[in-house]
Amino acid sequence: MREVILVYLDRSGGLQKFVHDCKKYNDSKQSYAVYRFIISINPSDIAELDATLGNYILHNPLQAAQIFQSVCFIAIKTLSLIEQLQTEAQISILLKPTHLPSLPSYVLSLSAYPFNYTSQRFYMSEGIVIAMGTVTKYTQGARFLCTEETCPFSEGFRCIRVHCPGATESATVRNDFVCSLCSSPLQEDMKFRVLGDKQIVEMIDAKILNALKGYSVDKSHFRIQAFTLFLR
Ligand SMILES: [Zn+2]
Repeated sequence: MREVILVYLDRSGGLQKFVHDCKKYNDSKQSYAVYRFIISINPSDIAELDATLGNYILHNPLQAAQIFQSVCFIAIKTLSLIEQLQTEAQISILLKPTHLPSLPSYVLSLSAYPFNYTSQRFYMSEGIVIAMGTVTKYTQGARFLCTEETCPFSEGFRCIRVHCPGATESATVRNDFVCSLCSSPLQEDMKFRVLGDKQIVEMIDAKILNALKGYSVDKSHFRIQAFTLFLR
């Protein structure tokens, strides 16, 4: 799958953008806990190239991002794109689909029963924004060091925590993490913390417009509830 990813990135122009993003990091001469890359993908194009990879991206996007992470790490190391980068754990990949297959199973509608959104994958959702918060900061990535000086994890970039889609922020930064080698407490090296923007938006299903028209599509009662979205 790694080769297919490279072929796809090359054909879609993603590779060029990736190299450009690397150059920006490299030119900044600054070291970060995490280097974040946003990669636009069209799952249908990928499926045409390799059905297994296309399917994997659609149904296991978090695991698919890990393969992209490994490809990007090898590319950075082979071409010496970012001098400061030390470990693969420091690369964070965000896959952004440009399209999803126009099939009902890819549409998320919280007004439709039964709910079956247990898998962490991509959905399309249409609605009306009814409230918006201000843009605030959140931690995208942080570097932790072992407090035991003789432990190999007391230096380097081995303990990197990256924010995953759907996770709360305490999953990234907290003060009770312990070293996986020696079980001593881990301490964050604040100099390397990477912050990103987030915004909370409240949305309601587009079907609410039917209620405002003063009639219901069918005779049964209906209830539409607003839902909260985290934009990161
Ligand atoms: Zn340790």
